[in-house]
Amino acid sequence: MKYADEFRDKTIAQGLARAIGAEAKSQRDYRFMEFCGGHTHAIFRYGLEDILPANVRMIHGPGCPVCVLPASRIDMAIRLAELPQVTLCIYGDLMRVPGSQGKSLLSAKAFGADIRMVYSTLDAILIAEQAPNREVVFFAIGFETTTPPTAVMIRLAEKKWLKNVSVFCNHVLTPAAMHSILEGQDIHNGGRIEVDGFLGPAHVSTIIGTKPYEVLAEKFGKPIVIGGFEPLDMMQAILMLVRQVNESRYEVENQYSRAVTRKGNRRAKEKVSDIFEVRDQFEWRGLGLVPHSGLKLKQAYAQFDAEMRFAMHEVRVADNPTCECGAILRGLKGPVDCKLFGTVCTPETPIGSCMVSSEGACAAHWTYGRFRIIN
Ligand code: SF4
Repeated sequence: MKYADEFRDKTIAQGLARAIGAEAKSQRDYRFMEFCGGHTHAIFRYGLEDILPANVRMIHGPGCPVCVLPASRIDMAIRLAELPQVTLCIYGDLMRVPGSQGKSLLSAKAFGADIRMVYSTLDAILIAEQAPNREVVFFAIGFETTTPPTAVMIRLAEKKWLKNVSVFCNHVLTPAAMHSILEGQDIHNGGRIEVDGFLGPAHVSTIIGTKPYEVLAEKFGKPIVIGGFEPLDMMQAILMLVRQVNESRYEVENQYSRAVTRKGNRRAKEKVSDIFEVRDQFEWRGLGLVPHSGLKLKQAYAQFDAEMRFAMHEVRVADNPTCECGAILRGLKGPVDCKLFGTVCTPETPIGSCMVSSEGACAAHWTYGRFRIIN
């Protein structure tokens, strides 16, 4: 497969692993957090942890938008979908995320709520055009990568004079979450994780560029290397991180230069800033309330804001106490540290969001990693 196989070459990967082994100092540990769930998935899929030296450890971060969505936002969506006039459009991976008391959008649909799975924001526009008597709400979720399509959707609804379209906005911001992790705001919630650097997200960075990470690297003295999702990308990025640590540097470096620039995608950023503004704070599963980490619609677009249109109110609820998703999302624990992993909690019977989303650490470990424990 041209342009994919080239980044999966086993011999080059082994060479990079040897280079990391040669440069990593045996007297110290290197703990790098991959922020993005796509990286977590790829690490398990390609078995990268097996070829890294024992003292170079990857810590799974909170970069899966489905995993970090708190149960309270799922509860809000369920209450919204149960309104008789509402058609709720969602991406498929949200269907089975548990809200409080184990209820999910899938179970709400089974009880008659009009919930439709869509593949793009434009599908929601089509549904709204075809059903002018329904209130069509799009459940907007994701990091900076998926926000521009939501902005385009709102612009299109405005252009088409659609009065029955709105957005339940759950878009979140990556640098704010990284800031929260580095600042250790979760101390009251069970400790903080020490990281020596970040394998920075790829897709998010195609939109925002590398510049927003510079203040984090400087403030906390931690190197950040933006890396692609292919195995050679990640191995090279890890080598760059090891080198920075060894040289006591803390810079933002860009391994994924074939897709990411320092300034990012200007047009996408403009579209987002036209429509959205930053919330004072937003709740993340595992991280709690994180300042300036979520987006909401600007007042000028209030007619498209489902939270205002339907007077939605958030009630914070506790996560299932037996589920370790919170600690996993903070990098404090791994999937096998949860006693429910692989017993009552599997992708078919998920208890927590980390097992629901394909990018979640528990699902990735279940799919690709669990056999390593057996042998
Ligand atoms: S195994 Fe299931 S219950 Fe345990 S942390 Fe993962 S998702 Fe939560």
